[in-house]
Amino acid sequence: MNNSYKDIRKHVDSIRLIDTHEHLPPESERVNKIVDVLSQFYLHYTSSDLISAGMSMEDLIYIKDTKIPLDYRWAVFEPLWEKIKNTGYSRCMEIAARDLYGVDGINSETYKQLSRKMMDRNREGLYKWVLKEKAGIDICILDTLTHDYQVDSDLFVPVLRVSEYTSPMNKKDLELLGKQFGNPIHNLGDYINLVKGRFDALKGKVAAVKIALAYNRSLHFEKRTYSEAEESLNKMYKTKGFHRVPIADTEYSETILDGPGKEELLPLQDYLVHLTIQEASRRGLPIQIHTGLHEGNQNIVSNSNPELLVNLFLEYGDAKFDIFHGSWPYSSRLSALAKNFQNVYIDMCWMHIISPSRARSALDEWLDEVPVNKIMGFGGDYLCVEGSYGHSVMARENVAKVLARKVDDGIYDIDEAKKYATWILRDNPKNLFFPEK
Ligand SMILES: [Zn+2]
Repeated sequence: MNNSYKDIRKHVDSIRLIDTHEHLPPESERVNKIVDVLSQFYLHYTSSDLISAGMSMEDLIYIKDTKIPLDYRWAVFEPLWEKIKNTGYSRCMEIAARDLYGVDGINSETYKQLSRKMMDRNREGLYKWVLKEKAGIDICILDTLTHDYQVDSDLFVPVLRVSEYTSPMNKKDLELLGKQFGNPIHNLGDYINLVKGRFDALKGKVAAVKIALAYNRSLHFEKRTYSEAEESLNKMYKTKGFHRVPIADTEYSETILDGPGKEELLPLQDYLVHLTIQEASRRGLPIQIHTGLHEGNQNIVSNSNPELLVNLFLEYGDAKFDIFHGSWPYSSRLSALAKNFQNVYIDMCWMHIISPSRARSALDEWLDEVPVNKIMGFGGDYLCVEGSYGHSVMARENVAKVLARKVDDGIYDIDEAKKYATWILRDNPKNLFFPEK
């Protein structure tokens, strides 16, 4: 290895990271569970690779079930593990096993020992140890799966998830949403109040807004009129859905909710997304948007092409769009957008493990193409804290490798390269999400 890499890597390893995106459950939830290597390290991402490699859904559920003896599950898992061991997701978990638990490689010789060591550490203080001490992360922006905003403020700042109010499909969903936030919805005015109410309630408590709608629909959010949105909303009430309450002592109950089709609800969703951007922009909150690859299997990747967002970039000049996952595999498209628009930022969360090599080639190109203040270099994006650690190591390695190559090619001098590393991994996300701190 050349000297510039060693020098830059040393600097990169000293940077306290700002982690733009995590999904970690509350620590209390994690430490109150029985954990082992299969239940945690193959919870997600690697699980998608297992399915892609040929595992059945039944087997995937089986291998993660801690009520079944670990050696039974290992026997089902091992033949597939051989097939996915090559990927970035798998490498990330092996780094975590090695650095956090001193276990070299995840294999038939080590899985029991690794699982025992995970249980030994599975107690209060786990997150602080992994995130602060081992990964060198100062703060994580947390996309919580629950609606619980009572998170450890020393480690996490949550986001407002747009899907909490854009997902109703029928009148029952609308009723539940209204109840959840104490704001019944009978017309679009009520709905707008509910959205604004969420922003008011979370003022000063969230770091960003998160839009993950590309999992269910195209990212093209068309401009809609008030009446188009209201008509779409009313369709949920025009249906004849009912819930038949079971009669005592019988098993029988029935719910029929014949809501409108997904397409019919698009005008309302589009309207709510525009409203969200207006509210976020007015309050100076960045808007994180999922683009590119979908976690899981069998989704429609073209739905998440970042080019579909151009109308939003054009309309909302004052908003700050933090575009997730480097849009992989649309990274060069994102480059054009971030170069062209002042309000578009590149966020590499999840990216170093999706493809370590293409994360490097993309960063290499972005550094030639996009102002360096617009690149956010790391977001762990994990449900399992060990994954966040493994990912942080891969991110540091990638950033150091790309910058060292630029130095070796005579493009930057070493001090410039170190400065950019600090910007990418710390200062840029700090300026975007925590400008006053
Ligand atoms: Zn995520």
